[in-house]
Amino acid sequence: SELLSKLRRQEVDAMTKRFAQIIIDISHEKVDRTFDYRIPPQFEDRISVGVLVKIPFGKGNSLRKGYVVGITDHADYDADKIKEIAGIVEGSVSAESQLIMLAWWLKEQYGSTMNQALKTVLPVKQKVKPKEKKILRLLIPEEQLEALTAEAEKKSYKARVRLFKALKENPLIPYEVASGQMNLSAATLKPVIEKGYVALESEEIFRNPVKDSGSRVKAVDLNGEQQAVVNAFCEDYEAGKRETYLIHGITGSGKTEVYMEMISRVISEGMQVIVLIPEIALTYQTVMRFYGRFGNRVSIINSRLSAGERYDQFERARGGDIDIMIGPRSALFTPFSRLGLIIIDEEHEGAYKSEVVPRYHARDVAVKRAQMQNASVVLGSATPSLEAYTKALRGEYRMFSLHTRAKADSRLADVAVVDLREELKAGNKSIFSRRLQQMIGDRLEKKEQIMMFINRRGYANFVSCRSCGEAIKCPHCDVTLTLHKDNRLVCHYCGYSIPMPDKCPSCGSPYIANFGVGTQKIEMMTKKMFPQARVLRMDLDTTSKKGGHEEILSAFAEGDADILIGTQMIVKGHDFPDVTLVGVLAADLSLYTPDYRAAERTFQLLTQAAGRAGRDARHGDVIIQTYNPEHYSIVTAAEQDYETFYHQEMAYRRLMKYPPVNVLFTVQMASKSEAALVEAADRLAAHITPQADEEKVQMIGPVDASVYKINDIYRKILYLKQENYDILIKIRDHIDCFQQEKSEIFKGVVVQYDFS
Ligand code: ADP
Ligand code: ZN
Ligand code: ZN
Repeated sequence: SELLSKLRRQEVDAMTKRFAQIIIDISHEKVDRTFDYRIPPQFEDRISVGVLVKIPFGKGNSLRKGYVVGITDHADYDADKIKEIAGIVEGSVSAESQLIMLAWWLKEQYGSTMNQALKTVLPVKQKVKPKEKKILRLLIPEEQLEALTAEAEKKSYKARVRLFKALKENPLIPYEVASGQMNLSAATLKPVIEKGYVALESEEIFRNPVKDSGSRVKAVDLNGEQQAVVNAFCEDYEAGKRETYLIHGITGSGKTEVYMEMISRVISEGMQVIVLIPEIALTYQTVMRFYGRFGNRVSIINSRLSAGERYDQFERARGGDIDIMIGPRSALFTPFSRLGLIIIDEEHEGAYKSEVVPRYHARDVAVKRAQMQNASVVLGSATPSLEAYTKALRGEYRMFSLHTRAKADSRLADVAVVDLREELKAGNKSIFSRRLQQMIGDRLEKKEQIMMFINRRGYANFVSCRSCGEAIKCPHCDVTLTLHKDNRLVCHYCGYSIPMPDKCPSCGSPYIANFGVGTQKIEMMTKKMFPQARVLRMDLDTTSKKGGHEEILSAFAEGDADILIGTQMIVKGHDFPDVTLVGVLAADLSLYTPDYRAAERTFQLLTQAAGRAGRDARHGDVIIQTYNPEHYSIVTAAEQDYETFYHQEMAYRRLMKYPPVNVLFTVQMASKSEAALVEAADRLAAHITPQADEEKVQMIGPVDASVYKINDIYRKILYLKQENYDILIKIRDHIDCFQQEKSEIFKGVVVQYDFS
């Protein structure tokens, strides 16, 4: 029977290899425009996704080149009229081929159509005039610049001061940085250029001079720890070993300097590098560190770029004009054909997971792409994701650690945890504990800066007790219940629900409430309590205009305010040497969100926030206010003890079979018709239950999504857990088949997949 099944498989193989779907113009606006061609027997073994082929096209059958993006057993087109592939283009594999193969992998791995996957990896061409790369060059001597800066300061021309200060550090500033990260408008730049202080030059002029001034910004001397990491990496690299490395380095340990040394090593061999940095941390300061070191061999993309601008940047990469691409998640698909290294800074950041289909994680795609192109991957974080750290412990990634702060005299801040229940007992009903109030007063007096932080990320309407600190949780799932408008508490994982109680179920106190404090309210209360302080607020409201983010951070860095209040946005990317106090107002806010990652996020946010204080020689203090001073994520963050946190959190994940112990496969179903949704969800669940049982897959649901109805669309979720990713992929394929077979059930129902 084995022989029989082998024969059958060959038969299927032969059948499924009959037609190739081909894209003729890869940079066309529509990648879904594919053409079917017959695969002649002599090419059968060599045709696969990503291969560049020659095909007869159009009436004259002139030969064109096209990429194979799919292979099927049936053609949509009349089989008799289908033309044959004429040949295979020999030679090196292009970046496009690699990216198309990567798209195929994305589709298989995460579940999407090939079209969705191609749109993810290939930039869309749009008819825009290719922009020249422009650069601002300082033309005047330093004394004059200083005089002009003082004058601009007197007149409070803030944007102009920002420009002058930046020019003092870097006499060459790429225009894209000036208008992007620095948020300088044409109205600011024009008079400065007209007066002859600064020249706006095209790259052609700029290209030569930069060669000699390339070493203008000298690399720092790495300390022993940093150098050891770089050496180990370089030894591997030179020996032709390509691996994934995890740098676990405390905040301020000098990871960025280590990356730059590695980059410099890799590009010296003619190879190319992609650097992923979360958008929120892609500030002017960060960007200029890379420009200062690598000049115009660097390009930057961010989400504010239009599709056309992004396409231009990718063209420059394809053309070999640059060696280093820096950007958020999507920079991962830069068409470098000589890719040598992919760096992912702040590897734990949630933004690396795509929220649209295919829902890929940049970390895993980076590892895959690197493997396809024989490149290395370097992940860095002060608070590695459980996924990455687990792989590093298992030896799948090679781990490096940086234990000390790189800057001389810079030490980690002292962290104190304040129990808010005690404050309430002592009659203090304000949002500031007595300790924090006293310290704020002290810093205001000393003219040092303060950051006040609420970790609202993943904020949800949970209910907690102000007397004992307990949040009301689901008895089955260990996540907080969410307060719904109908005054019921609902579990978003299993559907369990109870009416909103009027007393705390743990201690009987009547002081239970919906936990929610906004930044605006905090700003008001701060101003009331400290009328002498100058206060800045940073949240979605104040940063929604373009560059608002950078504007506020710069103002604070320049000493325009004493206190900066904000969400997690304020803890990334900027160095504020004058900040000596960081207050976390309610550490619990991120702890009781209906998400199994709540403790991990809390630990990360608190550690990052603590890392903001005491960035220079002055001593820094951090106050963490909480109703749960004994919660392990808070205790370990206060002690900056990643290891202990990791082990406690893993114990919890093991118990609950959550990632990274198991893979969590989420099937999301959505429909305008509630009846259709319920029917489809139930039938689907019933259909896969036998297979799930047999394969030892734990299935939960279908349950209502955390927000059941959005814009009149109802959503349900099915959770499947298994250690083995491949088994879950089998189930997903099974669901795909079921949807095709029973298309009538799924009419008007959208099914999406997510793996984590
Ligand atoms: P991380 O990325 O780990 O937070 P950075 O690379 O941003 O750390 O370094 C933190 C600060 O220390 C920066 O101001 C950086 O210039 C400085 N720094 C890093 N390495 C060194 C070094 N070897 N000597 C002196 N200063 C350093
Ligand atoms: Zn539950
Ligand atoms: Zn209570």
